[in-house]
Amino acid sequence: MGIEFSLIETVFKKPPTRRDVLLSIGDDCALVGPREGYHLAISVDTLVSGTHFLPEVSPKCLGHKALAVNLSDLAACGAEPAWCTLAITLPSGDPEWLVGFMQGFSALAQQHTVDLIGGDTTRGPLSVTIQLMGHVPVGEALLRSGAKVGDLIYVSGLIGEAGLGLLSRRKLLSFEVPQAIEALERPLPRVELGVLLRGIASACIDISDGLLADLSHILDQSNVGASLALEKIPSSSAMRHHVRMTGDSLFPLTAGDDYELCFTVPKDRAKWVEDTFRRLGLEGALIGEIEATPGLRLYSNGNQLQTDRLGYEHF
Ligand code: ADP
Ligand code: MG
Repeated sequence: MGIEFSLIETVFKKPPTRRDVLLSIGDDCALVGPREGYHLAISVDTLVSGTHFLPEVSPKCLGHKALAVNLSDLAACGAEPAWCTLAITLPSGDPEWLVGFMQGFSALAQQHTVDLIGGDTTRGPLSVTIQLMGHVPVGEALLRSGAKVGDLIYVSGLIGEAGLGLLSRRKLLSFEVPQAIEALERPLPRVELGVLLRGIASACIDISDGLLADLSHILDQSNVGASLALEKIPSSSAMRHHVRMTGDSLFPLTAGDDYELCFTVPKDRAKWVEDTFRRLGLEGALIGEIEATPGLRLYSNGNQLQTDRLGYEHF
């Protein structure tokens, strides 16, 4: 397709770092040796220019984010990432862009000992698809379907910060918020937390579409409901300022692109979770409780919010 083989050789091909990679880039298939006693966890995500990222985003940030969103999916299952493939569609064979992309990609891949073992390179409108594979011990994967009445609901990190970053990038805020732009363009997937939550969390999901939407998936698949305390949801001072200025108190819960984990645990695990957040240096908080009554109820300092007019399907 005009992207010559030498480019693939120089930009994508690196000696494998993992001993379980038996054959990597350069042949018709890659060969890997999965671990005994583990299931393979597999996830794939596509990022399309103009839909999932602003066309002017730096290639380095895009390389980071494309892998980060997949790492986040594996984290939500409690899986340890191992190998990935990369299908990339490029408007032109600009080697400089590709080198930048791979810098962002490789730095994050290295941090999580993920090897790029194959892929496909074509010409067309910019889009990036990564498939990530990893290991989870048989029977220990975290699912969306295990939340029980009385379980506590936690989130890691600052909620809605990436959404604030998007407003900032689009110049829709009266102030710049560099740490929100960082949250948008370089999210840090909670892989370590996900692995630690094996055997602890009753349900887990990563927040990509917004806390309310993603928590609703847990509620639906677990056949339960929940109450959330709005004031407990961890947010930055910039976010609190934004909410005060706009009166849009649901913004952080619907903004999306957080790539934080939302999970439920039995009540007697509360101290374990607090200790683990502290040990990992994560912001994070207890935000609510699972209840038998279906649906999601929002409270602000003890008063239930009337959310029926918002047209949000899960209220
Ligand atoms: P094929 O015709 O067998 O699909 P390709 O010419 O598409 O082979 O790719 C040659 C090799 O380079 C393959 O091993 C493929 O996995 C790898 N490769 C191609 N594009 C990428 C990419 N974007 N990232 C990683 N590996 C790639
Ligand atoms: Mg090919």
